[in-house]
Amino acid sequence: MEQIESRAEIRRKRRIKRRRRRKIIKTILLLFFIILIIIIICFLFYRKKEQKPYTIGLDAGHGGTDVGAIGYIEEVELTEKTADLLEELLKKDGHFEVVRSRKNGEDMSITKRKEILLKQKPDLILSIHGNSDPTATARGFECYPSPPGRDNYDISYYFAMCIAEQMAEVGNRLRGENGVRYAYYVTDQNGNTQKAIKEVSDTMVYAQQSFGMVENINCAAVLAEQCFVTNQEDVEAFGSEKGCEISAKAYYKAICKYLNIEPISDNI
Ligand SMILES: [Zn+2]
Repeated sequence: MEQIESRAEIRRKRRIKRRRRRKIIKTILLLFFIILIIIIICFLFYRKKEQKPYTIGLDAGHGGTDVGAIGYIEEVELTEKTADLLEELLKKDGHFEVVRSRKNGEDMSITKRKEILLKQKPDLILSIHGNSDPTATARGFECYPSPPGRDNYDISYYFAMCIAEQMAEVGNRLRGENGVRYAYYVTDQNGNTQKAIKEVSDTMVYAQQSFGMVENINCAAVLAEQCFVTNQEDVEAFGSEKGCEISAKAYYKAICKYLNIEPISDNI
């Protein structure tokens, strides 16, 4: 009888042990899943933080009393209108944060405008301008990246190529070899400073300074001459309300290409 009881006791103890073991396994599994969920949440949060938007530095050339070149329109009308439209497109996209060098109508030196942009550590800088020519016959698009020899030359050159490509696609005539050129300020013996333009194939390093907006910058920097404000056809195509819209879309697509982002179809 005693023996039967002890067997029953052993079985009971075994059952208790098994139950306890199952309980421990269940607790371990539950803890494991909780830790796994915490790791997944942290990973997603970290990735979201990592995918911060790109910062685009936009400079609408001239401003305030400095209206830039005067032709069928004032240059500043074109620069501010295009910068506004481009800012709108970039914000709608969602991948970008836009920093403007100045408010519309504001008169500000290039040094100050550059300082404002660089403070925000932009991924690229685009300075928008309009060209002029006294004969009123010159037409087309050209842009100026930071020239050869500068630390940001390669990236600026690539960004300039992206812009020229998109401008050609919307029908703007590319000036020079392919719409990309280099500009240098050259001072002659009499102390007069003039702008010297070099074609894109001239990759020699010159000591002369280029445009303020593309010098001493550590990101891609390009100054674009959208069209000639002194040429009626150019203004109609790329300086009018519609023209600025077409140009802003071309810049938007170029920025997307430069940063390897698929442009959103609503914007193009
Ligand atoms: Zn200008």
